Amino acid sequence: MSHDYEEVSGRIVHDETVPARAGWSRVIGKGQVLRIVDLEGRQAVDFLCYNADDYEDRYAAADTMKINPSGIFIGKDTVLYSVNCNPMFTVIEDTCGKHDTIGGCCSDALNRFRYGATGQPSCRQNFLDQLEKYGMGSRDIPTNLNFFMYVPVGSDGSMDMGPSISEPGDYIDLRAEMDVLAVISNCPQINNPVNDYNPTPIRIIVAE
Ligand SMILES: [Zn+2]
Repeated sequence: MSHDYEEVSGRIVHDETVPARAGWSRVIGKGQVLRIVDLEGRQAVDFLCYNADDYEDRYAAADTMKINPSGIFIGKDTVLYSVNCNPMFTVIEDTCGKHDTIGGCCSDALNRFRYGATGQPSCRQNFLDQLEKYGMGSRDIPTNLNFFMYVPVGSDGSMDMGPSISEPGDYIDLRAEMDVLAVISNCPQINNPVNDYNPTPIRIIVAE
């Protein structure tokens, strides 16, 4: 069950439900707003972005953390920066409050190493499947960020993967500051609590 949430302002140019475990990508034009809705709550959304005119100018996790006062968490007013320190997206609305910058993505190798699990879908593979459409591959995956994923860090440096804190209908609005290729993996992870052990659909809306 999904809850009601405020309508996105402006003209909707794209509206799609991304199934559980699936990947997605699209170029978001400068000035357009990308809304990601966690329809059922407790769903991690792994995210990468690239300057649509220069794929080498891509999301820079460490620089984003250093430049923004929000540090390791992404929330309202956080700006996502590229490796050339160009603003890519600005978070203009956020009902969740804390999104992860440091946990990275799940992969087949990690599932095997940490959980002894083989043959499961992963965010890394979802990213590769999307990036292939744009002529990119494994060398083009920088550290990603994770919307609606909660990775608290202790004073001793310890970190936890979840449990997730997002509620049904939580959303984040990202205004594109350049033409940006956005790449999403709706995380299929079932071996830890980042998705509450239950991957669910998300909704993607693009408005201008
Ligand atoms: Zn994942």
